[in-house]
Amino acid sequence: MRRNFLKITGASILGIIFYPLASLANNLVGFKKKLKKDESEYNIINPDLTNEQKIIMFEEGTERAGTSELNYEKRKGTYHCANCGVKLFESTAKFDSGTGWPSFTEAIPGVFVTKTDYSFGMKRTEYSCANCGAHHGHVFNDGPDGGKRYCSNGLCLLFIPESQ
Ligand SMILES: [Zn+2]
Repeated sequence: MRRNFLKITGASILGIIFYPLASLANNLVGFKKKLKKDESEYNIINPDLTNEQKIIMFEEGTERAGTSELNYEKRKGTYHCANCGVKLFESTAKFDSGTGWPSFTEAIPGVFVTKTDYSFGMKRTEYSCANCGAHHGHVFNDGPDGGKRYCSNGLCLLFIPESQ
């Protein structure tokens, strides 16, 4: 009897450990390709958005770390919302956080709305475009010099280099 009890408990514990990992994997673009809802329910402004971009921007997905070309972007310029085109970050705010996601110390004032996100057992602050509602990433208080770290999905951003 005791043995069976332990088996069941063991399975439940494994379920508790693995379920959040499985749902995290489901939410990572690359593992999951289909939208949960019909895209007509989303505020899609840019008709050229890929499915991956839609999953991140409208279903709060996350691109895989290290996959964005913007991690290596060092030119002067501005970063815009890939859905509506609003300017969100200046290149002067970009820094290498080592996380694998494009990171910034500050955003253009007023361009984001934030909300507390409790997914995956963590309390995080999610930010989305104030103009179109698209999700962009999470902001943390562990940036350089005690400042903020905007951890952005590169797929949500459009970089426009400064004209020479
Ligand atoms: Zn936008």
